[in-house]
Amino acid sequence: MAPQTHFRSLPLRAAGVQATKASPSDVRRMNRSLIFNLLFPSTSRSRAELSRITGLSRVAVSDVVNGMIDERLIRENGHETNANGKGKRATLLAIDPMHLHVIAIDLSQEHLVEGCVCDLTGTPQTHLRVALDEGEHVDTQTVVHLIGSLREGLPPEVEVIGIGIAVPGVVSDGLIRESTMLGWRDVDLGSAVASRFGMPVTVMNDTLGETFTERFFGQAGPNLMFVKIDRGIAAATLIDDVPALGEHDAGGEIGHVSIDPMHGPECPCGKRGCLETLISAPAMRARMEGLDEDGRRSVKASAGATFATAMSMPVGLLDVSDICVYGPPDVIDDVFVEAAQATLDAATLSSFHSRTVIRRCRCGADITLRGTAVATVLRHLERA
Ligand SMILES: [Zn+2]
Repeated sequence: MAPQTHFRSLPLRAAGVQATKASPSDVRRMNRSLIFNLLFPSTSRSRAELSRITGLSRVAVSDVVNGMIDERLIRENGHETNANGKGKRATLLAIDPMHLHVIAIDLSQEHLVEGCVCDLTGTPQTHLRVALDEGEHVDTQTVVHLIGSLREGLPPEVEVIGIGIAVPGVVSDGLIRESTMLGWRDVDLGSAVASRFGMPVTVMNDTLGETFTERFFGQAGPNLMFVKIDRGIAAATLIDDVPALGEHDAGGEIGHVSIDPMHGPECPCGKRGCLETLISAPAMRARMEGLDEDGRRSVKASAGATFATAMSMPVGLLDVSDICVYGPPDVIDDVFVEAAQATLDAATLSSFHSRTVIRRCRCGADITLRGTAVATVLRHLERA
């Protein structure tokens, strides 16, 4: 079973798309995704309401819904309240969180591999963590063992329908092309895990997973630049809910784009002035060490201004009005964000360009796991 990694759109939000020459199974998959979308993550709707919103006939909705109930994707969940208390009240449908689950694995953290079992709404049910010793690296066995342990603890009524793995680095066509953080190049982790567990595996970039979480559970709309500033710096961009992955699926790998190639600090990659040497969390912490509060504020404000300068050109190119920054609170705080906003305003404001807002991500714990889990659920829906 080949791992799947391409996310050309987010079906959850891509409602209303009609293919002109779709086969019956394509139509069935699309309608299934459409209805799942309208119930995700925790909305209850009647068949009549689904018919009204989708434009599908009552018969067609019932057909799709009954299939989804049989598959245990959704369930009947009570009845509509009826103001006058008379007549037959419609049955409500909701996503079934009880039966089908996915396993999500996060390889993006330092010295830690974390996994969880999530229900179809992307809500983690159980976590397991494997701590790595200094100098110890993640390998396939670590991942396989963690997934095995997560499965072992599950009650018999729970069925795992897929595994999602979030990896820091470039993932393309199922392969981990390059992960500097893990020291991997051209690693086919997905196939190894898929053959071991006999189920589909979705390998994806960690920042893209986090972007999905911000989109599905945070405050983002369909157009977003999401930037993670931590050990490294990485970004993901949604344009009309389509991730901009680029020619080599490396879109968002901005950490080693230099913004001061002649005079910036030397970078392990061989260049000078890479964004990571200037505003990654370790770089900022090193510059703040030993300084008083004013000194620390000044370092963070300067880093915020550098960040905004770097982001001003993609903002102009793409006209995205929402930049969400995710990072540890000791460096990515109000001082950083306010300085970044002031610099971005000075760089981009114009009569035709509305204000682009830079804000901190509030999704918190499990941000990588939840988005990866939802992506895995979406892959399941796309399959016949
Ligand atoms: Zn570099």
